[in-house]
Amino acid sequence: MKSVNRDWLDAGLSFLFPAVCQLCADARATPAEGYVCQACWQNLRFVTPPCCERCGLPYAGEITTAFECANCRDLDLHFRWARASVVANDFLRGVIHRYKYNRELWFEPFLTDLLLRQAVPVLRSENCTGIVPVPLHPVKQREREFNQAERLALPLARALGIPVLTHLVKRVQPTRTQTQLDKHARADNVRRAFAPVQPKSLRGERLIVLDDVLTTGATTSAVARVLRENGAGEVLVWTLARGL
Ligand SMILES: [Zn+2]
Ligand SMILES: [Zn+2]
Repeated sequence: MKSVNRDWLDAGLSFLFPAVCQLCADARATPAEGYVCQACWQNLRFVTPPCCERCGLPYAGEITTAFECANCRDLDLHFRWARASVVANDFLRGVIHRYKYNRELWFEPFLTDLLLRQAVPVLRSENCTGIVPVPLHPVKQREREFNQAERLALPLARALGIPVLTHLVKRVQPTRTQTQLDKHARADNVRRAFAPVQPKSLRGERLIVLDDVLTTGATTSAVARVLRENGAGEVLVWTLARGL
């Protein structure tokens, strides 16, 4: 993976860009803020309880008992639970799209901030031994030149004091774009997309699978399944954003 030196990137960007919000082009925002101003921050919605105990789907209203939503009741999910930092609304999807597909890497500190704020307090007490970013197919990774899940995993791993593990699961099929498919078609589509790099190499580890957006959970569940079949004891999922 190509790593971009942070200081060099900040210095280069502040030379190239004035300290202005790259979303509204209206207000002041520094490289350290990921070029997102305070007003644009108001468009964010953090994921807060109550939510589905299993897949983390935020639930409107009060629930006092354990709750599993319809989404995961009829999907065979292979992770113990999934949680996300923020809601994947149009605003955030727009930023993630520009980050991923236009390589607008100056949004990275902003996205990392959102991820860490919510994930670190929860995951610190889970005693996991490593973070597995959802892998891209090698062809896609060559095109895009970076894997966004892997880049987001690095600061989270640093904050938790555990390693990023990129040698456990590989993507063997470049899956079709998922957006037009219903949840069962998605699950079928990704079921055969991942494979272990080395079979039977895990010994009961507790691992975190990390991705940028979770929609139905089919992708992260497929990665969790490979890890479980390979000997992982338990798999948790964290994503930056959660589609509703
Ligand atoms: Zn702004
Ligand atoms: Zn659910």
